Amino acid sequence: MGTKFNRSVLIKLLLLQCLSVLSEAQDSDFFYFVQQVTDTSMSEAQDFDFFYFVQQWPGSYCDTSQSCCYPTTGKPPSDFGIHGLWPNYKNGSYPSYCDPDNPYDESEISDLISSMQENWASLSCPSNNGSTFWSHEWEKHGTCSESVLDQHGYFQAALKLKSKVDLLQILQSAGINPDGRNYTVSVIASAIRDGIGYTPWIACNVDVAGNRQLYEVYVCVDTSGSSLIECPVFPQGDGKCTSSVEFPAF
Ligand code: 5GP
Ligand code: 5GP
Repeated sequence: MGTKFNRSVLIKLLLLQCLSVLSEAQDSDFFYFVQQVTDTSMSEAQDFDFFYFVQQWPGSYCDTSQSCCYPTTGKPPSDFGIHGLWPNYKNGSYPSYCDPDNPYDESEISDLISSMQENWASLSCPSNNGSTFWSHEWEKHGTCSESVLDQHGYFQAALKLKSKVDLLQILQSAGINPDGRNYTVSVIASAIRDGIGYTPWIACNVDVAGNRQLYEVYVCVDTSGSSLIECPVFPQGDGKCTSSVEFPAF
């Protein structure tokens, strides 16, 4: 997508130059017209409108009938972990698998791996070292923002966001602890909003006993991948929460 975008921008710029030379750059109305056409085409070429930054509570991922497996590198901390950084459109739809020519390459992020093991652990079975999860997230989502963030930039942006949005610390300061008790979803969302200054979206799942539990927290991020913003749109669906949900231990 990035290459296509760059090529089309280059062609338009060359066209603009040829046309303005042809008009000897004297006819300012004509020049202005060409400039407008070029600007409009360039803004239409935008890849996505914002990111969802999604964190998951490991206790809730594990406490379901699918169960979970601790990574080969050891049990992750009792903290929220990154699920993903997902480019999205403000109409609610989203791009995916944008560039098969840019596969996951772990050698580009070797300096980030120990932080990824701690903050972006994979809990799926069989027990694994996280590479399959990271590769999936890069190829499905990361390749759709590659015009802004290369692989290193993408994973680094997610890790920086994780330290900026310290959900467990925010919730615990509000008296909301992973202790297996039930908490009101609106109270959880308000605590997070007070902590980060923006309204989050909460998704829940169901434990083996059929109780709804706090599973994922979505916050929105600008197209640079660095600043939090109000969500232009929340994900489709109701997030599967009931008014009060369990916050299981991990
Ligand atoms: P997504 O839901 O982002 O499209 O895909 C998540 C994929 O990553 C699924 O195939 C899931 O099995 C795999 N995966 C591996 N580890 C984890 C994990 O810790 N959490 C989640 N949510 N998915 C994981
Ligand atoms: P689920 O159906 O479990 O909510 O989502 C499955 C997968 O679809 C997610 O892991 C993610 O890869 C993708 N997905 C679901 N909802 C959204 C969304 O609103 N935006 C984006 N970008 N991806 C999503």
